[in-house]
Amino acid sequence: MQDGGWQEPPRVLDPSWALFLDVDGTLLDIADEPQAVKVPSGLVPALSELFGMLGGALALVSGRPIAELDRLFAPLVLPAAGQHGAEQRLAADEPVRSHRVDPVLPALIPEVRAIAAVWPGVEVEEKGAAIAVHFRREPEAEVPLTRALRAMVEATGGSIELLEGKMVRELRDCRHTKGSAVGTFMAVPPFSGRRPIFVGDDVTDEDGFRAVETVGGLAMVVGVNPALDREPAFSGAAAVRRWLAQLAEENPEGTASGMRLT
Ligand SMILES: [Mg+2]
Repeated sequence: MQDGGWQEPPRVLDPSWALFLDVDGTLLDIADEPQAVKVPSGLVPALSELFGMLGGALALVSGRPIAELDRLFAPLVLPAAGQHGAEQRLAADEPVRSHRVDPVLPALIPEVRAIAAVWPGVEVEEKGAAIAVHFRREPEAEVPLTRALRAMVEATGGSIELLEGKMVRELRDCRHTKGSAVGTFMAVPPFSGRRPIFVGDDVTDEDGFRAVETVGGLAMVVGVNPALDREPAFSGAAAVRRWLAQLAEENPEGTASGMRLT
């Protein structure tokens, strides 16, 4: 499967997969501000088609709240994990369930805002189960901002962790991760018994990668990310979208036996 440092994505859909997809940087190109992302035409129909071909075993696994995912992908409603696993909807027709978040986290908001206020272009996003600090518009803030947030998180005594993503630092309850979300999906139909595939681009996806690999699944990385010690399978989100469109076009009849991934 390895070729020149790149992982070759499987070209044909195996209907026994369970597909877990990160959103920003994986399905969607990253924008200067999280609210400015665009959903290219063709993506929602392809996801809808794949959702059907996989018998419903396709989930979005994102740092965004599920309500935002629903707005972005409307009218499509998919199984989803939001806020890095702190909220989860196991099936499209089920309600969103939120896990309890350590009360230390919301208590940190004033301090996070005070730290971020040093840089006018740094944006603090209160997500409920996570606090994101975006510095895409002030890249020079990265080192001092990270240092200050690390010191604050260390002082909380271990229940909160700092995720160091692309142009974002995020505080979250460390019990809820993309890996714990994958584990919850894999325990219930239609996900259980399938081979999980996780596609992601950033450090927060590492929990998801490990969760699928633990049960013989496949981790596929989007782009070259020095923070991830992994070979990429896709050059960027556009390549992921082309791959999904290609899978969605294939007729799964007669291909399942020829494309076992193991
Ligand atoms: Mg991402």
